[in-house]
Amino acid sequence: MSYLDLTIREMHEALVAKKVTPLELAKEAIERAKADKNNAFELITEKEALEFAATLVEPEKDNLLWGIPYIAKDNFSTKGIETTASSNILNGYVPLYDATVIAKLKEKKAVMIAKSTLDELAMGGTGTTGHKGVTYNPWDETHTHLIGGSSCGSAASVAASIVPFALGSDTGDSVRKPAAFAGLVGMKPTWGRISRYGLFPFAPSLDHVAYFTRSVEDGAIVLDALAGRDIHDSTSSSKPVEVYEEGIASGVKGKKIAIIREIVDSITDHVIMGAFDKTLEALKKEGAEIVYVDFGHDLLSSLYATYIVISSAEATSNDANLDGIKFGPYFSGKTYQDVMIQARTKGFSELIKRRFVIGSFSLMRENQDVLFRRAQKNRAKIVMKTNEILKDCDYIYVPAAPTVAPLASASTDKLSDEYLIADNHLSLGNFAGLPSITIPLGLENGLPFGANLMGRAFEEKALFQAAEAVEQITGLNNLSVLNKKEGNL
Ligand code: GLN
Repeated sequence: MSYLDLTIREMHEALVAKKVTPLELAKEAIERAKADKNNAFELITEKEALEFAATLVEPEKDNLLWGIPYIAKDNFSTKGIETTASSNILNGYVPLYDATVIAKLKEKKAVMIAKSTLDELAMGGTGTTGHKGVTYNPWDETHTHLIGGSSCGSAASVAASIVPFALGSDTGDSVRKPAAFAGLVGMKPTWGRISRYGLFPFAPSLDHVAYFTRSVEDGAIVLDALAGRDIHDSTSSSKPVEVYEEGIASGVKGKKIAIIREIVDSITDHVIMGAFDKTLEALKKEGAEIVYVDFGHDLLSSLYATYIVISSAEATSNDANLDGIKFGPYFSGKTYQDVMIQARTKGFSELIKRRFVIGSFSLMRENQDVLFRRAQKNRAKIVMKTNEILKDCDYIYVPAAPTVAPLASASTDKLSDEYLIADNHLSLGNFAGLPSITIPLGLENGLPFGANLMGRAFEEKALFQAAEAVEQITGLNNLSVLNKKEGNL
């Protein structure tokens, strides 16, 4: 057992008791990162991490992140450290400033030890489209199952106990879905709760800073550090930040929990549904009221199409600056158009090109009414319906995904309810900007699956309380591949 296998809270206690030092933790985390077999890293920031950790000598007992090692997805700007978002078009790009979350974690004296892989530019959900190739799921040594994405490397490194937390970004489900496939807690707070300054934009009306931990309480502890108004991000909220772990064990007595009927009805995996139903019984016993609600089959089936149109349109305009001139490698050409064509042809993968084509097509004047504006109107309907449910109920609770981590070779019926509804419902939290958290729910043939809770805007504290109640019921706290190796699962 190493101190790295502990949660943030436990690691903090060991640091304060001087059983271990930040430098020792950073060294071991770097060793583990170097031994990684899952292709989780763009870059290990060894020199910077060791230099910084060496300056941390006197433990700060009221600062839970003091000396804690962490990893950031490679779409957060890091001053002086190459940041590529796993895209060839950004190879060699070194930001001049830190993203606000990176600066905040530095101030808290958490130690960044690496930048992690992602699906290129955070688009995609497989962990296979970054320029470093496929990122594997540490739960599956045969490397045949995906880990999901786009925050694949961050998920893999927390699941493999390299660090107790890692930053990701979530535009449709990019933290909360891989969290389910990797047995982790994945938290995406309310839109505006965490500054996005320095996060490479994908689709800003849907983008959120999000992160992975191995316990619900750790999820609350990380939000304490990241939340808050930032003058560099005018969309960040000035609502006061809370101490999110305070009262986390208050339970769900008297709370009303909504289950969306069409989502559970479209899941065919009996192990997942059995585990989910068990938690419902236990929540009821604890005094929660469970109500089944109808969302509307057609509206739910339209989530993916709506998401693709809006996110691709926003991506097209936000990534227009990736022209091969301002950032990254330069390809020579006779005209600036030649330079751009070369850079974009060589710099982007197929998936990215496809999304930009969809985005540009949706934004063409003659298509705007039938595509972009229609998708926006539909988004408004989705948001209204979600908020209507949450007017009457405190939470929405559903399985996070219809399956465990899928096989890389699996083919999906993209028109089935299982795909359109059960595999895409996490985007509700992005459309409505609501706080949403994935928690481990069980294991099937050695692979984890998760549940998801969504709450009202800025009610993160209440969301953590419900998530903690589920964690107490399942007992799945600090789940990592090490538990599996040690035969504890
Ligand atoms: N899987 C979604 C997509 O393909 C979500 C990506 C994200 O949340 N960044 O775009």
